[in-house]
Amino acid sequence: MLLLGASAPSFAASMDDLLRAYPDALAGFDGADLIWRDGTRMPVADGRPDKDMAEQLRNGSILDQLRLPYPVGAPVLPPQQDPGRVRNRAFFDKMYGDCRSGQVAPKLVPVVWLPNTWGHVVRITSVNGVDHALAAVSRELDALPAQDKRYLYPLGGTYACRSVADTGATSMHAWGAAIDINPAYSDYWLWRRDAPYVDRIPTEIVAVFERHGFIWGGRWAHYDTMHFEYRPELLGQRPTSE
Ligand SMILES: [Zn+2]
Repeated sequence: MLLLGASAPSFAASMDDLLRAYPDALAGFDGADLIWRDGTRMPVADGRPDKDMAEQLRNGSILDQLRLPYPVGAPVLPPQQDPGRVRNRAFFDKMYGDCRSGQVAPKLVPVVWLPNTWGHVVRITSVNGVDHALAAVSRELDALPAQDKRYLYPLGGTYACRSVADTGATSMHAWGAAIDINPAYSDYWLWRRDAPYVDRIPTEIVAVFERHGFIWGGRWAHYDTMHFEYRPELLGQRPTSE
């Protein structure tokens, strides 16, 4: 455990959370390597535990992506950190495929968004049952009052093979495991540099997504309030797939 240094105890639970969150893909953790069900081994640390946040966002290790606790269910306050915004590219490429090589699109399946309200088909990955989780989100959101549902459609989108604007890191949209709700009510830090945090999304909407394994970009200091992505390891939950 020398490899993990003084930080090891606080990560033990997070590695457990990671294994619990992706049971179809991950088989175990031996203290240094993450072991995939197909036998692939990936070191969770990169020997550089002191990277600043900007460097973690560009070149995050598997441990880096688990470092910051995500405030699931907490009141919405101006965020000071970016819990969940660090993503290890090798980990998620292995999990969902590399869109640049055409590996993600074949795994996308249709989900009807708000079947009783909007009823358009969106495409989302079937890996890890993300499609089932999103369908459950869609059904619950469809039961909200009309004044809440206007935040939910027309959609900003799901799959897009692209990078994050400011960091160049791979977006969760590139892995087919993220959704942007109605951009008309969205607030994005990059559009309002140096302005105070602002958010217009009803908390009921955030709660539904978080219950089904999706974290919210409104809980990031670099906020993106229309953005939700499937990261059940940060929510302390088992996946809700059916
Ligand atoms: Zn997004």
